[in-house]
Amino acid sequence: MSDIIQLLPDHVANQIAAGEVVQRPASVVKELLENAIDAGATNIKLLLKDAGKTLIQVIDDGKGMSTTDARMSFERHATSKIQKAEDLFNLCTKGFRGEALASIAAIAHVELKTKQENEELGTCIKIEGSKIVSQDFISTGKGTSLAVKNLFYNIPARRNFLKSDTVETRHIIDEFQRVALAHPAISFLLHHNNNEVYHLKSSNLRQRIVAVFGSKMNEKLVPIDEKTDIVNIQGFVAKPEFSKRKRGEQFFFVNDRFIKSSYLNHAVVNAFDGLLEQGAHPSYFLYLTVPTSTIDINIHPTKTEIKFDNEKALYAMLRATVKHSLGQYNVAPVLDFNRDANLDTPYHFKSNSKTASVPKISVDPDFNPFKEVEQKEINFPFKREKNTQSWESLYTSVDTIENQPNETLFDHQQEEKTQKTFQIQRKYVMSLIKSGVVLINQSLAHQRVLYEQFLESITVKEANSQQLLFPVKISFSSAEIEMIYTIKSELENAGFSFDEFTKDSVTIKGIPVSVTESKITIILEELLNDINLEVPDASFSHFDVMAKSFAKTLSIKTGTLLSEKEQESLVNNLFSCKEPTVSPFGKATFKTLTLNQIDNLFNS
Ligand code: ADP
Ligand code: MG
Repeated sequence: MSDIIQLLPDHVANQIAAGEVVQRPASVVKELLENAIDAGATNIKLLLKDAGKTLIQVIDDGKGMSTTDARMSFERHATSKIQKAEDLFNLCTKGFRGEALASIAAIAHVELKTKQENEELGTCIKIEGSKIVSQDFISTGKGTSLAVKNLFYNIPARRNFLKSDTVETRHIIDEFQRVALAHPAISFLLHHNNNEVYHLKSSNLRQRIVAVFGSKMNEKLVPIDEKTDIVNIQGFVAKPEFSKRKRGEQFFFVNDRFIKSSYLNHAVVNAFDGLLEQGAHPSYFLYLTVPTSTIDINIHPTKTEIKFDNEKALYAMLRATVKHSLGQYNVAPVLDFNRDANLDTPYHFKSNSKTASVPKISVDPDFNPFKEVEQKEINFPFKREKNTQSWESLYTSVDTIENQPNETLFDHQQEEKTQKTFQIQRKYVMSLIKSGVVLINQSLAHQRVLYEQFLESITVKEANSQQLLFPVKISFSSAEIEMIYTIKSELENAGFSFDEFTKDSVTIKGIPVSVTESKITIILEELLNDINLEVPDASFSHFDVMAKSFAKTLSIKTGTLLSEKEQESLVNNLFSCKEPTVSPFGKATFKTLTLNQIDNLFNS
C-alpha cells in the first residue's frame, strides 16, 4: 500500500491554530494590545468597526519592526520573545508563542504598517488568508499599526457563530479593560464606529480604576499593600457594602498579566467572611508580583491560567492581607449586625428618656404596588429581621412620622364577611375559589404581570412614555454607556427617551409609565447586569431580557403589605395573563388547594 500521511500545508495548519487562539474579535484585540505593550508602547489606540467584525485596528508608538521582521512576524512559531525552552520560565513579555499574527493572518484581511525609530522608511504588508498580497516601503511614524479586517471571512461557520454586536463589544471591552488596568502608565484610546468610548491618560493605579469604572468607584476602594519574600500584593478591594450581586469587577493580575484563578478568588472571598450578604460577590483589583521562575504561564493557549509553585502559601498570604486591610479601614464594625442598632440610627430622638412604644405600621393609602417597589427593600440589602422591633419603634418616635396620620388599613375582624383575599406573612395572597383556595406568591405573580405588560408595550404597541419634568442625568462607566447606547432603540421602544449621551453619563427625559423616577438608575443597572449574564444565540433580541429584567426589579417584593384592593387587582391581573402559572423565570406563581385536599389534611 502507498503511504498516506502528508504534512498539512502552512495555511491549513495556520487556520487550525487560529481556531485555538482566535475565538472571536475580542481574542484578536487581546493579542494585538499585548504585542503593542511588548513593543514598549506608551500610547495605544484601538479602533473598532461593528464590534470588531469589520475592523480591529491597533496603533502603537512602540519600537516597530524591520522589513525582514515585519515579513517574519506572520510565520508560525515566529517570535522575538523567547529563543529556548528555558526562557519559558523567565518570561517578561505577554507573548511568547509566536502564533498570534500567523493565526490572525490566516483568517482575515490584515494590513501591517511598521517603522523603527532610526529607519527612514517603514514597511507596509498586506496579507489575505495567509497569502501576501503586497509589500511596500511607506513613510510612516515610529511604531506599528495592525488592521484586521473581515475576521473569519474565509470560515463562514465561525463568522455565523459570532454573537450580536452588543455581546461581541462587551467581550472586547472586557479584554480592553483587563489590559488597561494592568498598565495604568500607558495611555489608551478606544473608538468604536468613530465614537470615543475610552480615553485613558497615563496615570496611577487608583486613577486608572476610576477612569475605567467611573467616578463612583473612588469612594469604594480600600487599598491593599503587602510585600513578602514570595509575593508582593498591591491593589484595591471594594468595601463590602459595594459588593455586587453578580460577579463582575474581579481582577487578578500576576506580573501585569490578567489571570483567572478560582483558587485565589476563594482566598479573597474568604477574607470577606461574615461581611457579605449571601450570594454577593466582592469587587477587587489585585496585583501580585512573583518571581518569574515560580510560575508557569504555558498551560493555556490564551494564557489566562497560571500555575504557581507555592499556591498554598499564596492563598494564606492573600487572605490575611485582604482581611487585614478591611479591618484597618474599619470596614468590619459598620456591618456588625449584633451591635446595638440605636448607635447607628440616623434619626434624632425628642428626648433621651424615651420608652419603647408599640410598633405601628403606617401605610400610604395611595400606594400602588404596580407603580413602585417598596423603597426599603432596595436600600437595605442586608438582613435586618433581627432588629425589626427597634426599627419600627424608632420610626414611630420620629417627629415627622408622628405627625402623619397613622392609618391601619388592616382590620380583619371588621372586613371578614366580604373579604375574598387575604395576605399571609406579607408573602402570599390567598384567594377563595369555588373548589377551595389559591395561594399566590405575590412577588412571582407580579413579575408575571409586569413581564407581559412590558413585553407587550415593547413589541406590540407603542410604549407609554412619561416625560420627566426635569431630565435626569445618570453617571455610568464608559463601558456601560457604550452598552446602553447599543440597546438605545430597544429602550426607546420600552418607553425611555434620551437626551444626551456623554462618555460617562446619560441624560434621560422620558421613562415608561410603569417606572418611577427614583427607580431609573436601579432598573438600568440591573438591566446591564442581566444582559451581561445572558448567553444569547444569534437571533438574540434584547426585548425578552429587558422585559424580564424590568419585571424582576419593579415587582412588589416579599415583605410588602398589600391592601385588599391591591391583593384583588393582583389576582385579577395575574389571571388575565397569557401564562399565569409561571413567573418569567419559570417558577410557579400559585398553587391551588382543593376542598378535598384540605379535608385530607384532617383525615390522616
Ligand atoms: P508573540 O507575541 O508570541 O511573539 P506574535 O505572533 O504575536 O507572537 O508576534 C510575532 C512577533 O512579531 C513578535 O515576537 C514581535 O517580534 C513582532 N511584533 C508583533 N506585533 C508587534 C508590534 N506591535 N510592534 C513590534 N513588534 C511586533
Ligand atoms: Mg503576541
